Amino acid sequence: MDKLVHATGADGSIRVLAAITNEITAEAIRRHETSPTVSAALGRLLTGTLLLGATFKEFDRLTVKLECNGPVGGITAEATNEGTVRGYVKNPIAELPAKSNGKFDVSGIVGEGTFFVIRESGFELGLHRDPYIGSVPIVSGEIAEDFTYYLAKSEQIPSAVMLGVLLQNAEPFVAASGGVMVQMLPGANEHIVTMIEDTILHAPHLTEVIREGGSPEDLIKLALGVIDHEILEEREVAFKCTCSHEKALTMAEALGPNEIFLMIEDDNGAVINCGFCNEKYSITGDELRSLIA
Ligand code: ZN
Repeated sequence: MDKLVHATGADGSIRVLAAITNEITAEAIRRHETSPTVSAALGRLLTGTLLLGATFKEFDRLTVKLECNGPVGGITAEATNEGTVRGYVKNPIAELPAKSNGKFDVSGIVGEGTFFVIRESGFELGLHRDPYIGSVPIVSGEIAEDFTYYLAKSEQIPSAVMLGVLLQNAEPFVAASGGVMVQMLPGANEHIVTMIEDTILHAPHLTEVIREGGSPEDLIKLALGVIDHEILEEREVAFKCTCSHEKALTMAEALGPNEIFLMIEDDNGAVINCGFCNEKYSITGDELRSLIA
């Protein structure tokens, strides 16, 4: 099971989130049949969205969306306050050659565009509060740097973010996936972030630590080096969608009687595809008839 850890460090002046997301990224790849570079981009965004979500006390749904002009065409990830995340891309099979250092060209596949963060709350109370929407230009396309830029520009939070996905040729195709986010709280010593940036720069790569069986706490140690920390919470996280056969029926019904009649005529049934998780729901002719009865 994938895990996310929430910690505090440097005498409570920094907030640290770390997660291992091997299964989440593997599930996303399995569902969307993404190319290697798109898999890396999607895995990083799913992980970053979970980490960012874990920093908010109050939210029901956090969506991070890249509207971009690179071959992937767009990536969306959505996390809940229960530690679940789902996501999809516009062009799953887009691909680019690896960069000269052998790494996936994630920034190339993303291209330029806008990084959106949409935070919704009040679901349980039945309130339709206006969502909080923040956006910044995509500055890097490597995703971790884009979270850092978003936090600095839109939330005025200096931070350090590391996200990584390492693939392998055999199932489950993910050798390592995870990330760390360090946020400076108001009043924190500015020197700390410089120390952390320096530690990260000289640390072994995140995905190597995960591949060797490292835990979220190992990722925290990797990012913080000698800075003290205390674990506040550990929770399980998973790829999970909110779709269901019931919701697929509602989607079919929304197409209207004419469209439903055609589906009965042509195929005596329909297949509704969930855009978020690629689950396919088969709807029978009888179910279609009951929708227009
Ligand atoms: Zn779904």
